[in-house]
Amino acid sequence: MFSRLLTDALHVGLPVNCAGCGRWDTPLCGDCAALLAAPPHRVEHVDAAGQVDVWALSTYTGPVRPLVLGWKNGAREDLGPVMAVAGERAGHWLAGQLRPEAVSAAQASGCLLVVPAPSGLGRRLRGRLVAADLADAVARGLAAGWSDAAPPRSARSG
Ligand SMILES: [Zn+2]
Repeated sequence: MFSRLLTDALHVGLPVNCAGCGRWDTPLCGDCAALLAAPPHRVEHVDAAGQVDVWALSTYTGPVRPLVLGWKNGAREDLGPVMAVAGERAGHWLAGQLRPEAVSAAQASGCLLVVPAPSGLGRRLRGRLVAADLADAVARGLAAGWSDAAPPRSARSG
């Protein structure tokens, strides 16, 4: 699925290589795509986050690092659809992982915020708000996952 999305997004005739491992003739190989397809994992010891749960789609090492850097800096704008799918998938999965108090607070307030890590000044000035785009994708996934898990309205109302 990732490869098809990328192939559609790339211009025909340009040499392509995997954004993660550099393998030729594919914009994103199956091995690297699989690194974005696993369920998110909780990140421990993020002191700056305080009591906020922090989740990561993948570790920022190996092939994921050049993949993410290419997407963030615009060298691989073709990864936008791939990252959106990964974000939606992660959001859908996270919908089932929210703490009960987070669900209660979201239901009481009518909203659940997805806050992206702020992009650097240079990226913001260039209008490359990739973290915001990813947060939007996660929010779409959360909304879909939450509505999938919610009982039918008639069952909730009693
Ligand atoms: Zn690869």
